[in-house]
Amino acid sequence: MNILFFGPNGSGKGTQGAILKERYKIPHIESGAIFRENIQKGTELGLKAKEFIDRGELVPDNITIPMILERLKKDDCRSGWLLDGFPRNKNQAVQLQEALGAEGMALDIVVEIILDREIAKNRIMGRRLCVKDNNHPNNVYIDAIKPDGDKCRICGAKLKTRSDDQDEAAINKRHDIYYDTKEGTLAAAYHFKDKFEKHGTPRYIQLDGKPGVKEVTEELLSKL
Ligand code: AMP
Repeated sequence: MNILFFGPNGSGKGTQGAILKERYKIPHIESGAIFRENIQKGTELGLKAKEFIDRGELVPDNITIPMILERLKKDDCRSGWLLDGFPRNKNQAVQLQEALGAEGMALDIVVEIILDREIAKNRIMGRRLCVKDNNHPNNVYIDAIKPDGDKCRICGAKLKTRSDDQDEAAINKRHDIYYDTKEGTLAAAYHFKDKFEKHGTPRYIQLDGKPGVKEVTEELLSKL
């Protein structure tokens, strides 16, 4: 099962993605997380990517696209994968599709979480990262995943914020990219929506991101 997951930063993409990962036993590949790991380790890729990430800009396609295509060739991707955060613009969508075609692979499902820009911004600013497991969801503005005081609600570890999550200008820039239907992330999503409407494949599932995590999960599961 090969799945793409779209949604603005702050829409709960990571949380819902983790559910699909479990259901289909596939790796959940987050482009942003790969960059952060490289920055933490001080790799050359990390050094190159950091300046763009800190400004809320996309890391250039000539760095990002090969990084993701290489990742999809790893052994754990043999029975499928879930991509989250990629493609982030129209060019990445087209190149991904071409690369998959060349490898004889196809996309099965594309999920889009629909969420208003203002709500997404508040959710980002409330997000907290668990120092032990970045996938543990904690958000001071969402009742269902409110941290336990100042500790991770899942494992009790310390929490931190992502520097690019507290910078309103950078958030606005990221959302400008996401909500751009001509060249940006929604253009990438609609590239696949268009294919679905014309050819019936890959399946294109839209979810309302406004309700709580549980309700969004229920809608997701009912539409799979
Ligand atoms: P995220 O964790 O998805 O919010 O990603 C954090 C940052 O990593 C983004 O703001 C971008 O600077 C960079 N990034 C993540 N995915 C991509 C991508 N597909 N293309 C370019 N830059 C990306």
